[in-house]
Amino acid sequence: MEHGVYVVCDGMGGAAAGEIASSLAKDETLRAITERLKSTPLAEAADQAISQANEAIFSRSLQNEKLSGMGTTLVILVAEDRRAWIFNVGDSRCYRLRKQHLEQITLDHSLVEEQVRMGRMTSAEALRSPLRNVITRALGTQSIVTPDVFELEAEPGDLFLLCSDGLTRELPDPTIEHLLSADFSLDQLCANLINAANRAGGQDNITCLLVRAA
Ligand code: CA
Repeated sequence: MEHGVYVVCDGMGGAAAGEIASSLAKDETLRAITERLKSTPLAEAADQAISQANEAIFSRSLQNEKLSGMGTTLVILVAEDRRAWIFNVGDSRCYRLRKQHLEQITLDHSLVEEQVRMGRMTSAEALRSPLRNVITRALGTQSIVTPDVFELEAEPGDLFLLCSDGLTRELPDPTIEHLLSADFSLDQLCANLINAANRAGGQDNITCLLVRAA
């Protein structure tokens, strides 16, 4: 992992709106990061690009009634040499597998997960809650968004997973840890995660992306 930008977005909003929001988010952030990189350090470029993507989605939603209220989650990993930054808005996640130990890096911006962190609900209750779809922060639903940022030092062999809630709703962390610890190519590991999530119910669309630190 010398220098890279990796993005997962999971759109929300009726009909096609969610898809428009997520593809706008991905295209805008990638474009804006690339454009800024010549003059701006990577992490700062990513932060600015996220604001720009947020504005693009928000203004688009104001122009078209059918797109009103659309938004998307966004989790981005940017890396330069050994340093990695993860930006997060919403309930898609970033995990790191290091020496077969899985650690969730991001915190979900969801009503139930916030209740869990405050000790008002258990994880099991959160999974069953009728409010489990309520996201407390999203890209494109307001004029300004503040992503969480996590900065970390990557070690050779570290495996980063970016994924939508379609994966993590179906597979508990120990299962993800077990599947990712197997000695397969990244493509095969991704396929194994998606197959397992589909076998477990596959209630939602599933996006996952794996990045290995060299
Ligand atoms: Ca989803």
